[in-house]
Amino acid sequence: MATLSAKNSPNRACPLEYTRNIGISAHIDAGKTTVSERILFYSGLVHKIGEVHEGTAVTDWMEQERERGITITSSAVSCHWKNKVGLFAGIDHQINLIDTPGHVDFTAEVERSLRVLDGAIAAFCSVAGVQPQSETVWRQMNKYSVPRLAFINKMDRTGADFYGAVNDIKEKLQGNPHPLYLPIGAEANFKGLVDLIKMVAYVYDENDPNGMKFDEVEIPADMKEKAEEYRHALIEAVADFDDDIMMKFLDGEEVSEDEIRRGVRKATMTREFVGVIPGSALKNKGVQMLLDAVVDYLPSPMDVPPIKAFAEGDEDTPSLEIVADDFAAPTALAFKIWADPFVGKLVFIRVYSGCIKKGMTFYNPRTRKTERISRLVVFMADQRTDVDEAYSGSICGLIGCKELITGDTMCEREHEVRLEPPTFPDPVIAMSIEPNSKADQEKLSIALQRLAEEDPTFVVTSDAETGQTLIAGMGELHLGIIRDRLLREFKVDAQVGKPQIAYRETILGSADGVGKFIRQSGGRGQYGHAEIKLEPNEKGKGYEFLNEIVGGVIPKEYIKPTEEGIKEAMLNGVVAGYPVVDVKVHLVFGSFHEVDSSEMAFKMAGIFAFKDAMKKANPILLEPIMKVDVQTPEEYQGDVMGDLNRRRGQIQGMETKGNLCNIQAFVPLETMFGYATDVRSLSSGRASYSMEPSHFEQVPANVLKQVVEGSTRKNARS
Ligand code: GDP
Repeated sequence: MATLSAKNSPNRACPLEYTRNIGISAHIDAGKTTVSERILFYSGLVHKIGEVHEGTAVTDWMEQERERGITITSSAVSCHWKNKVGLFAGIDHQINLIDTPGHVDFTAEVERSLRVLDGAIAAFCSVAGVQPQSETVWRQMNKYSVPRLAFINKMDRTGADFYGAVNDIKEKLQGNPHPLYLPIGAEANFKGLVDLIKMVAYVYDENDPNGMKFDEVEIPADMKEKAEEYRHALIEAVADFDDDIMMKFLDGEEVSEDEIRRGVRKATMTREFVGVIPGSALKNKGVQMLLDAVVDYLPSPMDVPPIKAFAEGDEDTPSLEIVADDFAAPTALAFKIWADPFVGKLVFIRVYSGCIKKGMTFYNPRTRKTERISRLVVFMADQRTDVDEAYSGSICGLIGCKELITGDTMCEREHEVRLEPPTFPDPVIAMSIEPNSKADQEKLSIALQRLAEEDPTFVVTSDAETGQTLIAGMGELHLGIIRDRLLREFKVDAQVGKPQIAYRETILGSADGVGKFIRQSGGRGQYGHAEIKLEPNEKGKGYEFLNEIVGGVIPKEYIKPTEEGIKEAMLNGVVAGYPVVDVKVHLVFGSFHEVDSSEMAFKMAGIFAFKDAMKKANPILLEPIMKVDVQTPEEYQGDVMGDLNRRRGQIQGMETKGNLCNIQAFVPLETMFGYATDVRSLSSGRASYSMEPSHFEQVPANVLKQVVEGSTRKNARS
C-alpha cells in the first residue's frame, strides 16, 4: 500500500493518492457513452444498465444529446472502485469521470475537459481502428500531456480486429501501445480476457448478461504461446522505463507481477507508453479490467506535474506552479458552465490546491471582485449531492455564482493567481440571427450572451453596418444546437440566415499609416493625430501592440484610446470587412492639442491610422480550410477524388484497407456545404466522412472577387 502524503486534510473522504480524474475520448460512435455507463454500473452507482440507443444513458443530460445520440457537453460524475489484485488491492479509489464529447464541432469542449484531467481512456472501435476523430483527440491529449490507456471496444462486432487496432495506434498515431490483456476469441465468440501480468484467463459467464460474473481459469492452450510472447514484449517495453526491470530482464531473471505493474505505471506516467485493454462495453466484457487499470496505472493528482499559473503582473510566461495540497491557498478553475433547468447556473470547477468551502468568498482575478459560494455539489450520475467542502484534486459544482465564466480562476485576494487559459480554435462559420418578434430581441441577446459565456468557441458579434447580430462557431451542427438550446432553454424562437464562412484578413507586407482627426469648426474642436507602423505577425500569434511613443508626442492618457481605435478598426478589415488577425502594430508618432484633444479624437485617429496602413500593406483574405477524411468503398474512389478536386481540395493521402479506401484532403470550407448529401449520392450512400477545422489559407484571386462582391459589408471597400 502506498504511504499517504502530508498533503491530505484529515477531513477528506478519499486521499489524494487514491483519486483519479479521468476522461474518455473517442471517435463518435466508438462507444464512449456506453463505456462511461458501464463504469458507473460496475462501480455500483447505477443499478440498471441503460442503453445509449434507447436514450437513457445517465451521462447524457441534454435532450438534444439524447435525440442526436451524441454527447455534446462534458458532465462530471464520481464513482468508487476497489481493485481485488494489483498495486492498490483492497483500497477504495474515487474515480471522477469527466465526459468528453466526440464530435469535431465541439473541440472546445474536448480541450476544456482535457485540461482538468490527470489521465484518460482513449476508446477505439475494434473494427474501425483509428478513425479521424480519434486522431484529433489523441493529438489534443498529447498537447495537454495526458497519460492514457487504450480500450479497444466492440470486440463482439463482426470484423473485430484487436491486433489491427493496436497496430493502427502505433502507425497512425505514432503511439507506443502494449496490450496488458489479450482477447479470448472475437466477434460472437468473444469470451473473455487473458491477463498478461498475472498470466491467467478471465472467462465471462454467458448466463449472466450483466457481466458481473467471470471465472479465473488457466489460459486456453491455444493462446499460451501468444500470451508468453506478448508478456515478454510487455516486460521488454516496460524495462525501457525502469532500470531494475531492465537488469532483471537482461539477466533473464523473473520479474514479479507487482514489479511489472509498477513498471507499467511508471511508463504510463511518462506518456511514452500506452497500455491496451480489449473489451465490449455493450456485452459487458473487459470494463472491470479497464477500471483496475485506471486505478493501477493512471496518475493521481499528486503524480502529475504541478499546473502552471500566472502571478499578478506575469505577461506571457507563468511564473507560479500550483501543487495539489489541501493546506495550500485555495485555487480552482471553472471549466464548464451549465444552464441547469432546476438550479440555474451551475459552474463545474476543478480544485487544484487547498480547500473550497461552502459559504466562503473567493476572489476572481478577471473581474477583480469577490463572490460567495452558496452551494457546493458533487455529481453522482444524474443526481447531485450537497457537500460542505471540496479538497485539492476534486471536481465539483458551484451553484449561485453569477460572475464566474469558463476559464476563470478562483483564488484568495492575497494569493492572486491565474491558471493558464486554455486555447481555442477560431470559429469557421457564421450566420445572422434575428428574433421572430421584436419583443424577443432583449431575450435573444441575454440568451446569446449566456451561451457565449458557456462556450468560448461560440462568438456573438454585431455587424456595425447592418446592425445584424451574427453568431459564429465551429460548424453547422454546433450552431444548430445553439439554436435548439435557444428555443428549449430560453424559449426564444429565432430565424437564422444561411451559413456564411468566417473569413479573416491579414497582411503580407509592412506599411506606415497616418490617422488624423481634426475638427475646428465653432465650439470645442477635436484634435487627434497618430502614426503607426504595421507589420505581419507570426501565424496564430494574433494581434500585438507596441507603444513606441517617445517624448510624450502623444500623452499617456491618449495611448489607450488610440489602441482601442486600432482594435475597433481590426474588426472590419479593408479587403471585405472581416476581422483582421496576426498583425503587429507599432504606435510610433503623433501630436496633440492642449485644448482640443480628447479620448474620442485619438480613438478616431487610431481607426484612420490602421485603415491607412492596412490598405498599403498588401492585405489578403484568409479562408478556413477543413481537414476532410472520407471512407469509401474502392469502386467510388475515383468519383470521390474527382469531386474533392472540384471543391478545390488538395489530396493529402490515401490508403486502402480491405475494400475500403480512406482519402485525406484539405478542402476549403466554402466548398463543403451540402457535402453530406453529395457524397452520399456519389457513392450510393456507402461513403462516410468527417471533417474538422485545420487552418486558414489565402483565398485565391478568382474566389476573392466573388467574396468581395457578395459581401454585404459595404463599409469594407471604403
Ligand atoms: P459514443 O458516440 O462514442 O458515445 O458511442 P456510444 O456509446 O453512443 O455507442 C455507439 C453505438 O455503438 C451504440 O449503438 C452502442 O450501443 C454501440 N456500442 C457501444 N459499445 C459497443 C460494443 O462493445 N459492441 C457493439 N457491438 N456495439 C457497441
